[in-house]
Amino acid sequence: MRSERISISRVHFPITTLGPGRRIGIWFQGCSIRCTGCISADTWADDRGLTDVANLLAEISPWVAEADGVTITGGEPFNQQAALLEVLRGLNLRDDQDLLLFSGYAVERLSETLALASGLIDALISDPFDLSASQTLALRGSDNQRLHLLTDLGRVRFETYNRQLVDADRSLDVMFDDSGTVWLAGIPRRGDMLRLRHLLSIQGDDIRTTDATRHLP
Ligand code: SF4
Repeated sequence: MRSERISISRVHFPITTLGPGRRIGIWFQGCSIRCTGCISADTWADDRGLTDVANLLAEISPWVAEADGVTITGGEPFNQQAALLEVLRGLNLRDDQDLLLFSGYAVERLSETLALASGLIDALISDPFDLSASQTLALRGSDNQRLHLLTDLGRVRFETYNRQLVDADRSLDVMFDDSGTVWLAGIPRRGDMLRLRHLLSIQGDDIRTTDATRHLP
């Protein structure tokens, strides 16, 4: 059977800041929603990182046995619906491994795809990032975003994230790739990336951040 083409920004294991435990992170490339203040604007263009889903699954397969779960984010995963469904079906996760998915779409727009993926997505964070909304809830960049617990495992693993942010939520994963690029994963609080850039600039270093439209509190 032909494998779907998919545009991927990056994959990484382990990540620890986008859900419980040590997780495989899959960042889809391409987002048509384009929220003001998006921290991941590098994932907006949809013409990068093209591969087959079969290749993607092969790349991450060595990590699957060790992972507590998988987080799919982006970019906008539902912009590549056929590829997303092939990924979800092809992961073959154990019963104790959960899948968390982030989308910038309202859940009401996703009902058709979610029905096709029934039982494969344990928890979903929906809705676009809203720079004007407050940020007080765990796993969310803005408080308009909703956490949906879609399976029994999702309810067990993610009910605890229906809570206010705590200091432990401020951590970010740092990833280094072979090209020397440094990536940060997680959900920074407003202005954290600009504060980091400011601190590095004092030391004579520079980072690029897509957080430029956010403001220091
Ligand atoms: S926050 Fe998410 S949905 Fe919004 S522009 Fe960024 S990647 Fe797209």
